[in-house]
Amino acid sequence: MIVVFLGPPGAGKGTQAAYISAKRDIPQLSTGDMLRAAIAAGSDVGRQAKAIIDRGDLVSDEIVAGIVSERIDMSDCESGFLLDGFPRTIEQAHMLDRILAGKGRDISCVLELVVDEGALVDRLNSRISEAKARGDEVRSDDNVETFQKRLGVYQEQTAPLVPFYEAKGVLKKIDGMQPVEAVSADIDRILDEC
Ligand code: ADP
Repeated sequence: MIVVFLGPPGAGKGTQAAYISAKRDIPQLSTGDMLRAAIAAGSDVGRQAKAIIDRGDLVSDEIVAGIVSERIDMSDCESGFLLDGFPRTIEQAHMLDRILAGKGRDISCVLELVVDEGALVDRLNSRISEAKARGDEVRSDDNVETFQKRLGVYQEQTAPLVPFYEAKGVLKKIDGMQPVEAVSADIDRILDEC
């Protein structure tokens, strides 16, 4: 099963993808996490990505498609995987189609977490205070200014993926404003039908 999570920053993609990954024993491929790991490791990709991420822009389609393509060739992705944060542009969606077609595979479904954008900055502020309370480091792009930029980038470059996947007949919308457990329950139900 190949599942794509779609939704603006702070919609809960990471939380829900982690839940489904554990429950169904399929890996969660988060391009944000992979890029942050590349930065921490000081690799070439990390060095190119750092400034772009910190200002809230998107890393190049070629770089992210490259890391995703390599990752899904690993044996743990054989029975399926969850994509969290990819594709993020129409070009990336075309790249994903080509990558999957080359491996004889196909997207099972695309889950759009629909949220009220007005609530997202409040969620961000809670995420920052919770991270601080735990003693965790706050992500360098998790501040109100960069977050607003990421929301704008989402509207401009990622939101067009909703009609793109709707036209392919694989898009499922989920009310992401419900409590976390209710969102998970909706996703579970939808995936059972996928
Ligand atoms: P969020 O979903 O909260 O915005 P992510 O962890 O998914 O956070 O992504 C953080 C940053 O990593 C993005 O703002 C972007 O700069 C970069 N990034 C992640 N995925 C992609 C992608 N598919 N294409 C381009 N850039 C990406």
